[in-house]
Amino acid sequence: MEYLAGEYDVIVIGTGHAGCEAALAAARMGCKTLVLTLNMENVAFMPCNPAVGGPAKGHLVREIDALGGEMGINTDETNIQVRMLNTGKGPAVHALRAQADKKLYQARMKKVLENQERLDLKQALVERLLVKGESVEGVVTRTGAVFKARAVVITTGTFLRGRIIIGDVSYSGGPNGQAPSLGLAESLKEIGLELGRFKTGTPPRVNRRSIDFSKMIIQPGDEKPHNFSFMSRKRYREQIPCWLTYTSEETHKIIRENLHRSPLYSGMIEGIGPRYCPSIEDKVVRFADKPNHQIFLEPEGRDTEEMYVQGFSTSLPEDVQIKMLRTIPGLERVEMMRTGYAIEYDYLPPTQLKLSLETKKIKGLFSAGQLNGTSGYEEAAAQGIIAGINAALYVRDREPLILKRSDAYIGVLIDDLVTKGTNEPYRIMTSRAEYRLLLRQDNADLRLTQMGRSVGLVDDERYRVFEQKSRLIEQEKNRLAETSVAPLEEVQNFLLSKGSSEIKQHTLLIDLLKRPEISYADLRRLMGDFPDLPEEVAEQVEVQVKYEGYIKRQLEQVERFKKLENKKIPEWIVYDEIKGLSTEARQKLNKLRPLSVGQASRISGVSPADISILLVYMEQKRREAPEEA
Ligand SMILES: Cc1cc2nc3c(=O)[nH]c(=O)nc-3n(C[C@H](O)[C@H](O)[C@H](O)COP(=O)(O)OP(=O)(O)OC[C@H]3O[C@@H](n4cnc5c(N)ncnc54)[C@H](O)[C@@H]3O)c2cc1C
Repeated sequence: MEYLAGEYDVIVIGTGHAGCEAALAAARMGCKTLVLTLNMENVAFMPCNPAVGGPAKGHLVREIDALGGEMGINTDETNIQVRMLNTGKGPAVHALRAQADKKLYQARMKKVLENQERLDLKQALVERLLVKGESVEGVVTRTGAVFKARAVVITTGTFLRGRIIIGDVSYSGGPNGQAPSLGLAESLKEIGLELGRFKTGTPPRVNRRSIDFSKMIIQPGDEKPHNFSFMSRKRYREQIPCWLTYTSEETHKIIRENLHRSPLYSGMIEGIGPRYCPSIEDKVVRFADKPNHQIFLEPEGRDTEEMYVQGFSTSLPEDVQIKMLRTIPGLERVEMMRTGYAIEYDYLPPTQLKLSLETKKIKGLFSAGQLNGTSGYEEAAAQGIIAGINAALYVRDREPLILKRSDAYIGVLIDDLVTKGTNEPYRIMTSRAEYRLLLRQDNADLRLTQMGRSVGLVDDERYRVFEQKSRLIEQEKNRLAETSVAPLEEVQNFLLSKGSSEIKQHTLLIDLLKRPEISYADLRRLMGDFPDLPEEVAEQVEVQVKYEGYIKRQLEQVERFKKLENKKIPEWIVYDEIKGLSTEARQKLNKLRPLSVGQASRISGVSPADISILLVYMEQKRREAPEEA
């Protein structure tokens, strides 16, 4: 028997990485928010590798933090190892990666949700969406509870019609022994949304006590502490190492001999898997010439013996998995604690969404996370915070927050999804961002804090820190541009010691800093009387001065990009009446209804010629009826 259980502004379905960010964003923006989850023990559960960050993913975490999100702080508070990757390369690809303590990560995030004002966390299985006309009205749970709200955010991850596959064994289920979500999948189809089928996989977990680490290479964390959040205080934590080993020829032989029992090759798996997270059997088949593949043993936490076998995702039969593991140096007598498996699930092809992550079909219904066809905690959380912000703005009848490709990796991620769609689980990479020199992880706060403030998510303390940092950076850059040094002997000796050339006359410090071989720390040592600035301010001054030329060129590209991006396409446009458009372009434009000419130009199948025809047509219309254009 259904009963009215509560009325809210925003309802979020799911407490995965997307759901947590969405719920916190809406509640922190002042909305009465409800977040529902299948299983409260699994708030912010990490069904896959116990790691946050890495190339491009680390950028997303910093951007979520700059907007006022939680993932960065939660990782800083619960990690067991941090490493800054790619420090030998330019700042655009420097990337922070942390090993998280899974249980601590979950416990802290659950506590944050439980203590968030205006947020109710409840355990319930949502079976159905309530839709009236073209607008969402709420949800109905398996126990008949009806919760009403003007906006609903779905973040059901890998649970929709989840199916677990291990060898020739398969059964209906969510990750890690949880229940699947069946009714909601039907409800989404009933309201006219299309669903596709994807799959992903995870490796076995093994017991640390049964590993011989003497046959592996230790992978320690960085001595120097790093943080994801611009609000976290730097402090050193005892780092727990990971370990590197390799598969052997024997491992590959066992895999080849059992490929006929692999659900990937027997056709048992229909869903499409992530290209950049291939299973070990896929790697052995696709890279047959490679004698071995790297395997990292990653601790799942401080207070557990469970170790994650990174690089060994598999859905081969259990008996084969044990045999394979015991051919790897150091794992000869290993005890497998959890079997690797594949999971197939329904996803929502994201071309059905607007750049705000609202569905085009149902007003007030938003979607975020793995459900939108992505793979990864960071990708999910990035969509979650945007969907949560826009659900709150929708309830307030305010314009949505849309991040452009030139603003953030989050903007690149969402634009790729809703404009180009994806036919495999989408993973963010630095190569996807055309303006990556501007979208560095070190300046996410300078790029996004103001936007988070304008929607009401960034609180006073974060805003104060941001303003102070921005001020100090500008002050120091101005000071370096006004302070010169004379061609004295000690200065010449210093420059020569750095492999830099002598100066002939008084030279501005900012010009010395532009020299690749001279760092800000060098100048501080040379001059001795530098202001005592926070490390992150000095870092910004150095990067902004050294890369000024490149940054300037990229900013010019962005101005050109914005010209087309700001050219809005009127909602009333009828593509069928535009002569000269290619059939493919007409079909794609009708289906996707892009917001701007810029977005239209990124739709595959819409050529530059089509864009010119569209621009001419829009100009004609503007002249005919300027008030409407
Ligand atoms: C087996 C496996 C392997 C993976 N491997 C990788 C990998 O190799 N690399 C990678 O980057 N990512 C991997 N992932 C993906 C990664 O885990 C996800 O990207 C991430 O967890 C997605 O977050 P999310 O918030 O979208 O969904 P999830 O974390 O899946 O959370 C979904 C939430 O929705 C809730 N829910 C679902 N249905 C309902 C309902 N009807 N009513 C109420 N609550 C509901 C669940 O309780 C849960 O809280 C893997 C995931 C799995 C399961």
